[in-house]
Amino acid sequence: MGISNIIFLVVFLVAITFFIRNLNRIIANIKLGRDIDRSDRSTDRWKNMFRVAVGQSKMTRRPVAGILHIILYLGFVIINIEVIEIIVDGVFGSHRFLSAILPFGLYNFLIGSFEILAILVLVACVIFLIRRNVVRIKRFRSKEMTSWPRTDANLILIFEILLMSAFLIMNATDALLFTSGASHYVTSFSNPISQYFQFMFMGMDTATLVAIERFTWWFHIIGVLGFMNYVLISKHLHIFFAFPSTYFANLNPLGQFSNLQSVTNEVKLMMDPNADPYAAPVADAAPPEQFGAKDATDLNWVQLLNAYSCTECGRCTDSCPANQTGKLLSPRKILMDTRDRITELADNKRKGKEDIKSLLGDYITAEELWACTSCNACTDACPIELDPLSIIMDMRRYLVMEQSAAPTELNMMFSNVENNGAPWQFPASDRLNWKNE
Ligand code: SF4
Ligand code: SF4
Repeated sequence: MGISNIIFLVVFLVAITFFIRNLNRIIANIKLGRDIDRSDRSTDRWKNMFRVAVGQSKMTRRPVAGILHIILYLGFVIINIEVIEIIVDGVFGSHRFLSAILPFGLYNFLIGSFEILAILVLVACVIFLIRRNVVRIKRFRSKEMTSWPRTDANLILIFEILLMSAFLIMNATDALLFTSGASHYVTSFSNPISQYFQFMFMGMDTATLVAIERFTWWFHIIGVLGFMNYVLISKHLHIFFAFPSTYFANLNPLGQFSNLQSVTNEVKLMMDPNADPYAAPVADAAPPEQFGAKDATDLNWVQLLNAYSCTECGRCTDSCPANQTGKLLSPRKILMDTRDRITELADNKRKGKEDIKSLLGDYITAEELWACTSCNACTDACPIELDPLSIIMDMRRYLVMEQSAAPTELNMMFSNVENNGAPWQFPASDRLNWKNE
């Protein structure tokens, strides 16, 4: 094993170790959420995941972004097969190891396809950059898209462009070295795209070509390992978490809210003193320690998983009637705040630091929560079926049931329900007087 193979192995192991450590931290953060049972309907869940996350079925509702995203997604998944070859070559010092074990035609087909995908990914990234920075599409520039989310989105696109360029330059110089008969470069392969890059390197001597080929090879693999670690602190975590998020998504019809059984029983008794107070299962009847959610740990783990899965695409906010009419609410911000808060809370816990903040108040205000019409446009628009509304409803539940801090109009309605058995201010005894008017 040569020195370069040892360096490669060390870099690879360090990157993998960091990746596993940081991924485990995020999983531990998600587990800080309350329990919720999503083990039902496993066939429907698999179908949902394949349809929405693998099949990208909701992405094409916006055709331009959808098709570009599918190219990027396919490119990302398929070109990474090449990384297997790079890793084996890096560890064992071989050159284009797959060419030795795959039939010549198949290897040619693979490398040719990778090149075509690479150029498509590169073009898609350039168009995405233009949409964000030149066309300045509105949903990418709203208030919560402060400097880091914008930089994050741009960085990853630039990163992809560099990776794809490195891949094509690597192939271009490799093919030139093969043609010139340089030792070690003994594999011919199909290069439908990189052949058009070769003019830049024509006339260079073998040593320079080898240096460029090696540089791009190292750049490609270090870039991939760096990218893998970077996504853990980025919105691009969705490339991993979109799959569990769609699997564990709420499969009930949109608009079907979860009631607290203990509260339902109370209301039934209030509305009808003859109702059976034990109608619900005993386990469900016990009142919870706290109603609703004040902090991120009061949310359930699926909601926290949603928060880490959010791509910050803004389709939810763009469809939100409250946001469209100038209210403070942005469903994307609800998920971004939840993610930031659970990360902060978990970090403080790990470091033993005092934590006096909470999601409600320090991140999300009551004004934002009460601006929601609970229309579900956000959950319907989300390409990976995230559910900002469930977080809003849980936090409202806290405001109402723990703090009695509902807006005046709602408080009046609550007292009417309590006193009159209806949201209006007329007593139940007068009901027949006004019901036909
Ligand atoms: S449910 Fe609420 S947050 Fe979602 S789109 Fe409707 S108003 Fe906006
Ligand atoms: S919740 Fe969904 S639609 Fe909204 S920004 Fe996140 S990924 Fe996009």
